[in-house]
Amino acid sequence: MIAIIGTWKMCREGLMEAHEMLKSGACAADAVTHAVVRVEDDPAYCSVGYGGLPDRDGHVMTDAAFMDGTSLRMGGVMSAENIKNPILAARMLCGREINCLLAGRGAELFALRHGLKMRDMRTEASMRRWREAVPERPERLTAYTGHDTVCVLALDENGRLAAGVSTSGLFMKDPGRVGDSPLIGSGFYADDRFGAAAATGLGEDIMRGCLSYETVSRMKRGESPQQACEGALRELAARKIELGENADNMSLIALSPDGRFGAATTLPCFPFAAARGGESGLYAVDGNGLTRAISPDELAGVD
Ligand code: ASP
Repeated sequence: MIAIIGTWKMCREGLMEAHEMLKSGACAADAVTHAVVRVEDDPAYCSVGYGGLPDRDGHVMTDAAFMDGTSLRMGGVMSAENIKNPILAARMLCGREINCLLAGRGAELFALRHGLKMRDMRTEASMRRWREAVPERPERLTAYTGHDTVCVLALDENGRLAAGVSTSGLFMKDPGRVGDSPLIGSGFYADDRFGAAAATGLGEDIMRGCLSYETVSRMKRGESPQQACEGALRELAARKIELGENADNMSLIALSPDGRFGAATTLPCFPFAAARGGESGLYAVDGNGLTRAISPDELAGVD
């Protein structure tokens, strides 16, 4: 069985291509990388890669990570500037035993030394968005409305699972702020034996529940990917509400070693793309865990 799932409508095209790659025998790692690179390269998606959302000082600082579910190795970059495809750096770092998670200048030097393309990640549109936001200086930062971190999980015909995530993080974040995305167990997790999971939404909240590890851990205990996503999210959201806090911006996807997928959200509606065996589609899950197929034109304003 081959399968692949990714967050938000924006991953759909790359994910469908990655699905074809899997059908032709590509490994999960290559499929995940391909789908994430497609989103990073497209400036129309302003929360990932080129043209991403700037921090308070007007810099586009990216976080990305990659995990191999067979070896349990991971690689990641955080607070990295000017790396054209942060996921490629994360994937290369994933082969390392130590020094596999690099921040800032260290990440940039690694990318340069390994021949990865560098570029100014700002676009006219991202700078315009920043200039308009500067006078407002929002008090409470929230995850970007409409789409955010691209997270992709894949299973190949050899039973190997891989996870990849990439984001420019919260719009107008403090310089140096890092969210859940490059942090193993919070933004992503993959273990061939039990499953893979990844999260998008307010990183500060997701980290408090180590949501991706919690989801895989539930699958290890026998829950389906759907039960695991719903259970992990419900438990953290309930605790936050008990503490008198908001729990309104977290979403999760998961994939089991036999190719079943799951998704859950605290948003009214969270779109994702998925493919399994010969079938593929675009879906949306609501706050009650109900998933329905959608068309690419549905959910205006949400990518
Ligand atoms: N989780 C990302 C972060 O906190 C952003 C998102 O996916 O909404 O940086």
